[in-house]
Amino acid sequence: MKIFIDGKYFDERTAKVSVFDHGLLYGDGIFEGIRIYNGRVFKLREHIDRLFYSAKAILLEIPMTRAALIKATVETCRKNKLRAGYIRLIVTRGRGTLGLNPRSCKNPSVIIIADKIQVYPQGLYARGMEIVTVPTVRNLHSAVNPAIKSLNYLNNILAKIEANNAGVEEAVMLNAEGFVAECTADNLFIIKNGEVFTPPNSAGALYGITRQTVIDLAHAAGLKVSEPNLTRYDLFNADECFLTGTGAEIMPVVKIDGRVIGNGKPGKLTRALVEKYHGLTKVTGEPIYS
Ligand code: PMP
Repeated sequence: MKIFIDGKYFDERTAKVSVFDHGLLYGDGIFEGIRIYNGRVFKLREHIDRLFYSAKAILLEIPMTRAALIKATVETCRKNKLRAGYIRLIVTRGRGTLGLNPRSCKNPSVIIIADKIQVYPQGLYARGMEIVTVPTVRNLHSAVNPAIKSLNYLNNILAKIEANNAGVEEAVMLNAEGFVAECTADNLFIIKNGEVFTPPNSAGALYGITRQTVIDLAHAAGLKVSEPNLTRYDLFNADECFLTGTGAEIMPVVKIDGRVIGNGKPGKLTRALVEKYHGLTKVTGEPIYS
């Protein structure tokens, strides 16, 4: 596997970063997870845009232009001969001193890894997933804004551990006010009486790229979509529920905190959206081999 680090390609065993990188020492950096389908990089421009928004929020200067990053991302896929897979694009604050002041970090590092991914077992997509609400609440947007896709994912990791401890794969995270924010690595949607609902970004949800794609697909299918604050009560009484994410795609949810959702099977509208999403992944994206 060839890994891009600061303009050069390294073999997997020699691809290394400094122990003084503030990405490692403090989680000071940002990232994107991007999918490759059918020889194309899906929603690449949207991911690059979000990376630049995250960088802006943490006052990190990405040492490459958007165009150069797009080119390097596609090139990394090509070098690894991938037609399907997952890209991890990372920008760290770079090498500094042991003190946390980022002023000591003169050169941010750009890393691109392209590999395979399987986030959830295949069978779960047909059966639907069970999720639980966990005690760890989502970061406050007045603290580390959850819209920033930062290298500091402890908030989400703690929630994921709590989900694992409860014997499930994913967790519903509430915000400090008790409204539903999202899951640890996925946005959350419900469907009630034919209408689609998802928590607003102000509730602590990431500006998910799959979330936006699904909102667009739902609109195109003539469905009404709104983004009100949602409570657990709303989730329990939904007709359908599903999660969205680059890695997860669209995952039906059939049980939340022991409450069966709808008839306990992946819902009809959810399945229709899954089909439309797969259709889109087949035919759109930045071509790798052209
Ligand atoms: N929420 C969180 C916390 C995430 O890390 C992710 C990405 N895995 C998502 C939602 C989904 O976002 P996207 O659709 O852009 O992958």
